[in-house]
Amino acid sequence: MEDSSPENSNTNGHSSGIRQISLLGVKIHYVDMATTLDVAKGWIAQGGPHHIVTADASAVVLAQKDDEFREIINQADLVTPDGSGILLGAKWLHTPLACRVSGVDIAKNLCRMAAEDGFSVFLLGAAPGIAERAAKNLESEFPGLEIAGTQHGYFQPTEEPDIVERIRTSGAKVLFVALGFPKQEKFIRRYFEELGVCVAIGVGGSLDVFSGTVRRAPEWMQRHGLEWAYRLAQNPRKISKVMTLPQFVCLVLKEKVRRTILKNKE
Ligand code: UDP
Repeated sequence: MEDSSPENSNTNGHSSGIRQISLLGVKIHYVDMATTLDVAKGWIAQGGPHHIVTADASAVVLAQKDDEFREIINQADLVTPDGSGILLGAKWLHTPLACRVSGVDIAKNLCRMAAEDGFSVFLLGAAPGIAERAAKNLESEFPGLEIAGTQHGYFQPTEEPDIVERIRTSGAKVLFVALGFPKQEKFIRRYFEELGVCVAIGVGGSLDVFSGTVRRAPEWMQRHGLEWAYRLAQNPRKISKVMTLPQFVCLVLKEKVRRTILKNKE
């Protein structure tokens, strides 16, 4: 496992200079929001496709049994820690991370950057009508923002080539894919070279938030790592996702014990 000390981070608009840790076999970068945006800005100037994953505890648990998903995360250009579970797990394993950098916050900041710098964004995912409403709200929040296109997330595999073509010809530099884990990451990787965007990021339920359909937890709940409880109260079907949290804690503790035994044997 690599050292994750912050003083070694020097991005110059690239992720290659950023320290990373391996949490239960899943790569996570030592970044804050400013570094994430700096890196994304560099990629947009440079061109070529880049993939950002925002990994939460449930993604790390899923990656233990889904090899393809784990490989996709480990191949991604930038993996940000999304959630207090990840921060806690990394701390327990003595590889602390900087802070939480969530998909919904990155997406908002990329929209602000797009409005300022004059590039456009494509919104893919969520139920029919949601991406359009999200586009309208984002365009009024960030005057000058151009949403290059929208597409709901309930399509058939046979429709994918047409959707990819629409994204490619839209001229968008940034693509938000809101299909949930691991669908969004697999979609991005499957069409990585054909999408024509500089940054593709899986953003989970962010379009529901931007459309006003789902509310984010109050700031104090986010600060205390309680966003999951707020989301569960809004949507009880999220219970299966929440149930991965104790699984994550068990896996981290098991790893901690394993390392202690190994160390004592030395
Ligand atoms: N979704 C979709 N197509 C699918 C499955 C899910 O567009 O086939 C959307 C769903 O409507 C929601 C998002 O993907 O907008 C997943 O949100 P969720 O809150 O589950 O993701 P999280 O933020 O928890 O990762």
